[in-house]
Amino acid sequence: MARSHKVDISGLLTGGRQLMLVEDEVPIEEFEGISFPTPAQVQLEMRCVDRLLHIVGTVDARAHGICDACLEEVDVPVHAELDERLDPNTGRDNDPFGESNVLTGSRLDVADLAQQVVLSEMPMGLRCSEDCAGIQY
Ligand SMILES: [Zn+2]
Repeated sequence: MARSHKVDISGLLTGGRQLMLVEDEVPIEEFEGISFPTPAQVQLEMRCVDRLLHIVGTVDARAHGICDACLEEVDVPVHAELDERLDPNTGRDNDPFGESNVLTGSRLDVADLAQQVVLSEMPMGLRCSEDCAGIQY
């Protein structure tokens, strides 16, 4: 069963609330051979500042894949810091996340947000360590 990770931020947008805290665990979809066996830990602080939704927070995940150099399986922690402003009024045209549905009306999709943040932090290729010597013959 997929659980919804959408958060209603209408209270922020109408000024009824100053601050919203979100703590969630969301699944991250596989990406170019890199899988995410455990849910990402998401912590967000959201405020409405000058009509913009200001989101700061962190996303922590574990990426699992194959080291590009030595082809061993690796687990790599992924830590992302988030500091974004979304304009709830203009919709996706000014969306820093581009083609996304992160914010639809007054609903923020935390899972979609986390997915994009994690992928933007991923290195081009996984390495088991920075000085991996590659395949040894
Ligand atoms: Zn390696």
